[in-house]
Amino acid sequence: MNDQFPPPGRLHPPGALTTVDGLIREGLSPASQRAELEEVAAEFRIRMSPAMRQVPVAAVQAQFLPDPRELNILPEELVDPIGDDVHRPVPGLTHRYPDRVILHTTQTCEVYCRFCFRREAVGETGQLAEAEFVRVLDYLRDHPQIWEVILTGGDPLTLSTRRLRDMLARLAAIPSVEVIRFHTRIPVVAPEKITDDLLAALQIRPVVWLVLHTNHADELTQAAGAALSRLARAGVPLLSQTVLLKGINADPDTLETLFRALIRNRVKPYYLHHPDLAKGTSHFRLPLAEGQQIMAALRGRISGTALPTYVLDIPGGHGKVPVGPGYLQEEGQGIWTVTDPQGRKHRYQDL
Ligand code: SF4
Repeated sequence: MNDQFPPPGRLHPPGALTTVDGLIREGLSPASQRAELEEVAAEFRIRMSPAMRQVPVAAVQAQFLPDPRELNILPEELVDPIGDDVHRPVPGLTHRYPDRVILHTTQTCEVYCRFCFRREAVGETGQLAEAEFVRVLDYLRDHPQIWEVILTGGDPLTLSTRRLRDMLARLAAIPSVEVIRFHTRIPVVAPEKITDDLLAALQIRPVVWLVLHTNHADELTQAAGAALSRLARAGVPLLSQTVLLKGINADPDTLETLFRALIRNRVKPYYLHHPDLAKGTSHFRLPLAEGQQIMAALRGRISGTALPTYVLDIPGGHGKVPVGPGYLQEEGQGIWTVTDPQGRKHRYQDL
């Protein structure tokens, strides 16, 4: 496996692309759409990392390239689709479930994904201010039932290792915090940031888990594989979350390839998210029934270890629930009809 970044023969990797001009210059976006793309860029930030620039696969690039269809904002689309702000006791913290919180460490990302449910917030206000972090720590001390702190953003691994080390040490000083979970795209979109210093910073008393956001097997480059391997060797348990996206990965073959690639890289597929009602993202969405059919097809093909749970974040902040497909139908009096992975029906009776 190639540990090197940039790859051999390429001494100076290109920088991130952040403007419509840059994308047109690189031949990634059509000049004929310049005016519409500038309109999109005025609404939603653009950033395509050096690592993702180098993957010449349409299904990968379309996740980061602005599209005129983003100007189509539907009435049901929301600024805060999963209700982060509804459950915000102090700035920077979402407390939706009793035993865990989301800590919004930064609004910066290494890439800006066109379907992101936080797309209105990312890139806006930078890092959590010191005074806000102090209030977060006070809140955690006052709520000892909080067992797990989920660091997200933006992308928490865009923070400097020094800042992360400081934040982790102060979280670790709260005895009731037993688990710290990172939600990040960095091992895929900027694998060079998984450094020895970072790995050393993750060796702390609350156990650190990492949930990788990845949507397509071609994102898992050799450099990404090497970064995941370094994390696994450092003892960090690895899970993944994927967004089901029309035109990117919404078919059983593409997802099977992704989930097998994740297992090969020691990453357990954890959640497959139905796309959220984020503004200007209707071209990525598909019906729930189609998602269920894809999951049903996958169940017959790949082992349970490679199969994530298909979930929907109920719009408005009402939480996340599995959305099937269902295999059980109650017939009454303890009798059930059970559907097997091939679609055949079976009778089951409770004892
Ligand atoms: S928060 Fe995650 S999904 Fe949203 S733009 Fe940043 S990296 Fe992409």
